[in-house]
Amino acid sequence: MWPAGEGAWQIRLPLPWALNSVNVFLFRQSGGYLLLDTGLKTDESLLALEAALAGLNLDWRVITRILISHMHPDHVGAAAEIRRRSGAPIRMHPREAEMVKPRGPDHKFFERAEPYMHAHGVPQADIDAMREEASGVSERMERFVADESIAGGDTIEFAGGALRAVMAPGHSPAMLCFHCPEQRLLFSTDAILERTTPNIGVHWFYQGNPLGEYLNSLRTLELLDVDKVLPSHGRPFQGHREWIAGVRGHHRKRCAQILAAVGGRPLSAYEIAGAVWGEDRPAAARRFAMAEALAHLEYVFREGRVEQRLQNGVTLWKAAGHAAG
Ligand SMILES: [Zn+2]
Repeated sequence: MWPAGEGAWQIRLPLPWALNSVNVFLFRQSGGYLLLDTGLKTDESLLALEAALAGLNLDWRVITRILISHMHPDHVGAAAEIRRRSGAPIRMHPREAEMVKPRGPDHKFFERAEPYMHAHGVPQADIDAMREEASGVSERMERFVADESIAGGDTIEFAGGALRAVMAPGHSPAMLCFHCPEQRLLFSTDAILERTTPNIGVHWFYQGNPLGEYLNSLRTLELLDVDKVLPSHGRPFQGHREWIAGVRGHHRKRCAQILAAVGGRPLSAYEIAGAVWGEDRPAAARRFAMAEALAHLEYVFREGRVEQRLQNGVTLWKAAGHAAG
């Protein structure tokens, strides 16, 4: 836990994954504290958050607001538990809130994901392996109904100025970043990360053109007056415009790799992901690679550079203008 600016603190919480930590932020307000994001619902994470509060001579009851950037488990997993401990309402964008609602024990994540996996060419054995790996996540993510909604442009006052919600879809459908103009801080959540690039993928719950949306979001974020970026993963850094330029280059390169992999023979997104990222990877990594391949395919499809067609219920892609092989 360390100061993130005036009236704001950054708290690093553990994740049991290769990406081994997530940052949440605490903001002092009149009459309490606002918590931005929550970490996973694990004993390690809740104890780390409790210890960070204790380090400021605070406890759960001082939290009077819980604000959520987006619906991914490492950002919302403990929200319901922290609401029970603090009594604070959970505020979230309605589109993101929709996806964390309880759907009953028989409505597990993968029951919806499976038809989508089939439609993009994932063999059943690989779907089973992916389901196995994903089951560990649902245990650490308690579903809930949010109490309040937030939209882009809304502002929230805190002791160090205002937090303005900035819509930055791409990594998730209605992700929010928070800009504090007074201190020139950007709480970039997962839109801008320190060392890595956010996963931009097409998922069963997020179809369409996420990469196009993400590149638009970067244009919005680029214009903000920012001295320090405070991402949800990694350390704070300066130079958001240089970072954005680098990430644009990364996605241009990925599009070129995808186009190189798409030849005259129609291939599924799963086959293309295997060609670009390699096939010898853990199931979760292959699932993310396929989602990412699809995001780039949808993007270059809109540029007219690839064609798609349906064959036996599977979407196949080939380079535009190639005769069917
Ligand atoms: Zn995320």
